[in-house]
Amino acid sequence: MTSLENPEPVLRTRIETEGTKGYQHILGQIQKLVKSMESKSGLKAEKIGFGTPGVLDPILQTMKNCNSTALNGMPLKKDLEDLLQVGVELANDANCFALAETYWGAVKQLAPEASVVFGIIMGTGVGAGIVVNGKLWNGRHGIAGEWGHNFLDESGGICYCGKTGCVEKVLAGPSLQRYYSSLTNSMLTLKEIAQRHQQGSDKFATQTMDRLHHFFGKAISVVINILDPDVIVIGGGVGNIESVYTEANRSINQFIFNNRVDVQILRPGLGDSAGVFGAAALVVNTDQ
Ligand SMILES: [Zn+2]
Repeated sequence: MTSLENPEPVLRTRIETEGTKGYQHILGQIQKLVKSMESKSGLKAEKIGFGTPGVLDPILQTMKNCNSTALNGMPLKKDLEDLLQVGVELANDANCFALAETYWGAVKQLAPEASVVFGIIMGTGVGAGIVVNGKLWNGRHGIAGEWGHNFLDESGGICYCGKTGCVEKVLAGPSLQRYYSSLTNSMLTLKEIAQRHQQGSDKFATQTMDRLHHFFGKAISVVINILDPDVIVIGGGVGNIESVYTEANRSINQFIFNNRVDVQILRPGLGDSAGVFGAAALVVNTDQ
């Protein structure tokens, strides 16, 4: 029997939501996916956990803060339950990531005694989730962990959320690529920029990576001062950059209100599938 201790994937498949075609189309794609998984596996879902962008507002029961903007304002949980005729749990994808890494990933392997975990996805956007004693901490507004839209620095410019200088606008992959491009007029991938920095062959690449290290330390120190987590796990493309674990770590020391940095900062253990495992954990968890 699949359980929190012993998860066993029975099928892996992937489908585009084609979100630009609108909300009803997204629902249709989800229904198509569920039907195809049920027919391929010969199993019927009793409950389904979904990782989503943004979050379901705990009072209004509609989606908010989604960068897939077609979802905003929509009663996604109710619509999916009506459509699929099955109980549904939703959580932000970074929350799912944090949960999965806690149960089965880096935290379980390297810091099993941790009580408070801050799981970050730094990729095309920046999101995070908080797990306390094995449970997601959602908060009054459902936005606990939404560190990506904290203010960090004016130089990040205007964000889709309506504010200026969000963490995401400084530290997300595209933001760093744009910064490099503003110095050089050439668009490289973040991986390429990081390689050039490592080789010491490109002073603008080094300037871009210095920006990442400096502002990562500055931004995460705010989280450490308030939440003081035992462990931070960093997923997403920016989390793959080696120097985040060395140089950025030193930058934390400059900004936290403490005489040393003890918090463990870990690479994820589950790869790209973490969010999906975490979504499944949402419905296993509610059975307890
Ligand atoms: Zn923002």
